[in-house]
Amino acid sequence: MNTVSVLGVPFITNDEKWVYNQCVSFLADAKPHMIITAGPEFVMNIRRTPNLLPVLARADFITPDGVGIVIASKWYGQAIAQRITGVELAERLIGYAAERNLRVFLLGASQTSLAQALQKLKNRYPQLYIVGKHGYFTDEQTASVIAEIQAARPHLLLVGLGQPRQEVFISTHKDILGVPLAIGVGGTIDVIGGAVKRTPVLFQRARLEWLYRLIREPRRWRRQLALPRFAWEAWIEARRLTRSVN
Ligand code: UDP
Repeated sequence: MNTVSVLGVPFITNDEKWVYNQCVSFLADAKPHMIITAGPEFVMNIRRTPNLLPVLARADFITPDGVGIVIASKWYGQAIAQRITGVELAERLIGYAAERNLRVFLLGASQTSLAQALQKLKNRYPQLYIVGKHGYFTDEQTASVIAEIQAARPHLLLVGLGQPRQEVFISTHKDILGVPLAIGVGGTIDVIGGAVKRTPVLFQRARLEWLYRLIREPRRWRRQLALPRFAWEAWIEARRLTRSVN
């Protein structure tokens, strides 16, 4: 495994195939594994909230889910070949689970959106064992959510509660959950269910995913202010590091 540290967050530089193979081997492991999929907003979140740092240390690895991370990796002289999105990784692993008769649990999104996602996946893979729980529960209800997951005994747990809540949930409970592989997947359940449209490939290729999301969800503008801040701080750090090496 190779990593590039971007503002203190170690992202893997390995390609998608490596990540997928790694996940497949985790699914067969008795030990619980955790993967974080993160973009610039998450990095800036960690910078503002250093008490989240132990959460990073509990993950097996962190994948670059955001073109901003891919661009920044070049400034650090350790180019990441491509971004690895939570949605794509989740969909591939659900397909694998269907083939191998593995159990899947989706935790997150609204009741309606979750129900749509479960229905779509059952239509696509009639033999797939998949259940879920919506993501709007209180701290007091956490114990019963954990009990539901334990009872379902999933091999794969996809958690879409928004960042960093989903990462905190997985890292805090992974040892008692006993799930071989848990991944924080953000809005993936909404995308699978159809409540949120997937970013068109044209926008993705033009590296304008942020613009597409801003147009569709204007309320995100405040969160997106993190993007120019990220670019500026990462550029400064990368320049300092590459200068001190040369
Ligand atoms: N979500 C949830 N519980 C909450 C807050 C959010 O289940 O208390 C879900 C929300 O419905 C959405 C997902 O978390 O499906 C991710 O939200 P967002 O798009 O904000 O995520 P991010 O940009 O962090 O990936």
